[in-house]
Amino acid sequence: MIAVKKVEQQSIDEAIAALLKEVRFTPEKGKGIFIKPNVVIGTGDSSIITSVEVVESLLRYFSGYKLIIGERSAVGIDTYKALERSGYVELAHKYGVEIVDLSKVPRVNVEWERGILKLPQVLFENHYINVAKLKTHFLTTVSLCAKNQKGLLSVKDAKKFHFTGIDRAICALGKAVKPDLNIIDGIKALEGNGPTTFGRAKTMGVLIAGNDLFQVDSVACKLMGIEPGEVKHLMPQEIPGDLTDAINAFSSPFLKPSLENCLTVEHVHFHNIRNCCSGCILAIDNGINWLMSEKKELWLKLLKKLSSETYNIYLGTGNHLDMETAPANVRAFGGCSVHFARCNNLPYINGCPPSYEEVIALFELN
Ligand code: SF4
Repeated sequence: MIAVKKVEQQSIDEAIAALLKEVRFTPEKGKGIFIKPNVVIGTGDSSIITSVEVVESLLRYFSGYKLIIGERSAVGIDTYKALERSGYVELAHKYGVEIVDLSKVPRVNVEWERGILKLPQVLFENHYINVAKLKTHFLTTVSLCAKNQKGLLSVKDAKKFHFTGIDRAICALGKAVKPDLNIIDGIKALEGNGPTTFGRAKTMGVLIAGNDLFQVDSVACKLMGIEPGEVKHLMPQEIPGDLTDAINAFSSPFLKPSLENCLTVEHVHFHNIRNCCSGCILAIDNGINWLMSEKKELWLKLLKKLSSETYNIYLGTGNHLDMETAPANVRAFGGCSVHFARCNNLPYINGCPPSYEEVIALFELN
């Protein structure tokens, strides 16, 4: 069962109630409900994270059940602080529901096609609702329900995913862990080089819900003007004919992510992004956010530098560079690229990932 609703035509509460009725999701009485939003770096920007209002609507709808909100933020980012920044801690307190940092919960061994995965116990003791964001992603084309499940992993497993073929790993995770319900918040979405501040906000005003994770993601892709078959981590599913009108009426093509091995944002080139985990990229991204919001002078200094200079930042493993033809301002970021930096006598910042505050040193702002 799958359904799509336009929120502009009704309130979020009405849309959620209509969706849950249409997909016939009726949790067992006496069993709790675990809700997994997408919080990534932790921000109040609802084009990047699952909107707090959507989860709040679920809390209201399921009042009377034991409810738990849980997430593990991007590698290198303190999950609890990310949950605080995004408003989820306040929401949990308002409704008296439990909030859990999935980087600190008991885990159980689950077999999957690559051996054993350690998944949060809370997932198996409760109904599990996966509440993803509608957005594009520079590594995986889209970040929807299948990708949102990466936040269930331990930090160690999450890093491994990137080095063993992220698309196949996400797909295998989607086959191994099947949520009881999948919801995609596409009220305010993100296009281009998502999943965070390098992307661009796009208002869509839609909510999608369904029982099958891959089917929900397939419908979301159609709404974004992306063929599900183009997304390597999806197993495209047949879309029910009765959704054709809604898809035609609500779809709006998204700006696609670059998907190259080098991501360029303004005058900064991030090299080798397909051979690193998102920890290092998001540390820089988070650092830039931090400069913008809390270190205005340094942020203005960075903008001034970027108006006349270009930076080439090497990340991850397996970097090679001919120093005779190397571009200007080359530096390495993160423990994976330290060996490369030392061999080529390049400035580098160590850490796995380095602290987001290292953006000051990365761009020589002090
Ligand atoms: S150094 Fe960076 S790219 Fe390498 S594993 Fe750590 S966070 Fe990931």
